[in-house]
Amino acid sequence: MARVTVVGGGVIGLTSALRLAESGHRVRCVRDTPAPATVSAVAGGLWFPYHVQPRDRVAAWGLLSLSRFRDLATDPGTGVVLREGVLVERAGPERWWVEGVDGVREATASELPQGATSGVVARLPLVAMPTYLAWLEQQCLAVGVELVTGRVGALDELEDDVLVVATGLRTPGLLPDVVVTPSRGQVALLANPGLERWFVDGDAPDGVTYVLPHAQWVVCGGTDVPGSEPEPDAAVHAAIVARCRAAVPALRDAEVLGSRVGLRPVAPAVDLRLRTVHGRPVVTNVGHGGAGVTLSWGCADEVVGLVRHVS
Ligand SMILES: Cc1cc2nc3c(=O)[nH]c(=O)nc-3n(C[C@H](O)[C@H](O)[C@H](O)COP(=O)(O)OP(=O)(O)OC[C@H]3O[C@@H](n4cnc5c(N)ncnc54)[C@H](O)[C@@H]3O)c2cc1C
Repeated sequence: MARVTVVGGGVIGLTSALRLAESGHRVRCVRDTPAPATVSAVAGGLWFPYHVQPRDRVAAWGLLSLSRFRDLATDPGTGVVLREGVLVERAGPERWWVEGVDGVREATASELPQGATSGVVARLPLVAMPTYLAWLEQQCLAVGVELVTGRVGALDELEDDVLVVATGLRTPGLLPDVVVTPSRGQVALLANPGLERWFVDGDAPDGVTYVLPHAQWVVCGGTDVPGSEPEPDAAVHAAIVARCRAAVPALRDAEVLGSRVGLRPVAPAVDLRLRTVHGRPVVTNVGHGGAGVTLSWGCADEVVGLVRHVS
């Protein structure tokens, strides 16, 4: 068994650290941002493979994660619930992701917004990220992961047998050949007036529109545009709230709780592989775009396989 340092404490780093420790390795997880301030904490938390490549690996990682999240939904402490919702298809059906996903059906006309001709209804995991990240940290501690706060300036500062790099958008600072670029996502948080169904209309004429109801709040989106401005834009916020209220009238009087921005770590393909850096094995697990939550368990299991290979 190896001594492993995982750099990164977002959903990808924490899930990797947890699975490595559960597999018997001695694991340290170093991160310089508290979990609630990571991109992972901004995610709407729907299990759905959005803005991520390549499809064949994504499909396999996604199915494994789906099964894990379905199990976690039986425990209220995780922040994971299963909810039904509608995915609107304006550019025609694109259903590669449904293979192996149970309980998917065609949306009826009354479930679709005006102008849309098709859509899919599915019962999928919705993950309340602040709750879930806290739960993941607790699980890590329970299996002996050492959670360390600190910034890693260069990989050769670290002394362990194997390194796992799960640093999202900031990976090029440690591994300059890794390509990850930011796609800015702004969301509005509204109090949940009792909504249970989610709604996603990614090609809505006025802009990406999604409504993801968690127990206490609803994540309303959104944007998905190149850019790295970390502060919410007031006009964008107002437009998101208006679009979501028009799409889901039950939100009309819901209190607006706030506005958040996250920068999706988009890559030409998820970079999950074993490489050698200064003679030491390094596993990268980065570039999950708009699907880091969706792929987290499948990718973590692949990390465990790669670490086993070198230890
Ligand atoms: C608005 C929005 C909505 C989204 N909705 C969904 C969704 O519904 N479903 C879904 O699956 N995905 C969704 N995503 C995508 C998801 O949030 C990301 O894919 C995921 O959070 C990436 O996780 P990560 O752990 O790689 O990165 P991050 O969460 O950014 O974590 C990176 C970690 O690395 C650490 N770090 C970086 N560099 C260093 C260093 N040098 N030293 C020490 N620590 C370092 C940071 O401190 C941090 O802990 C959404 C994203 C956005 C922005």
